[in-house]
Amino acid sequence: MNSNPRVWPPELSSTLQDDLRKWCFLWQVSELLPEISVSISRRMTSSLGRASYRRKHVGLQHTLLDPSAAELLREVLCHEVAHLAAYELHGTTIRPHGREWRALLIAAGYPARATIEAATLPTCFGVRTTRRRRRVRHSPWKAIARWIRG
Ligand SMILES: [Zn+2]
Repeated sequence: MNSNPRVWPPELSSTLQDDLRKWCFLWQVSELLPEISVSISRRMTSSLGRASYRRKHVGLQHTLLDPSAAELLREVLCHEVAHLAAYELHGTTIRPHGREWRALLIAAGYPARATIEAATLPTCFGVRTTRRRRRVRHSPWKAIARWIRG
């Protein structure tokens, strides 16, 4: 239980690293923890996070570092690490946001959502609805699913 992720960005708190350790324990994939690397991406704009099971890597969009996005940052980290855990537990042929992955999110206390309404994002994302008040739907996690499958 003392192990740490292989790479942990200095911008992320040790509290968040404790959360990551707890989730891995809860999901019974603690052996995965020392293989996991986490990085912050400045280029990532269309998705909040990404996970690569092959590389045991999780990338997080840098906007999540804004203090107003702290809660969302925790959820996105959980979301992405749950992808790694689901593949570890069930193999890589499962659907990225299928029931195996959803069960892990729910066990961690999160709604198992794969998309997020743009209007509900913290203001640091600078997302605005259009003047015509058309509902803008942002699907940051859709790209991840494709990325993992490929
Ligand atoms: Zn996802």
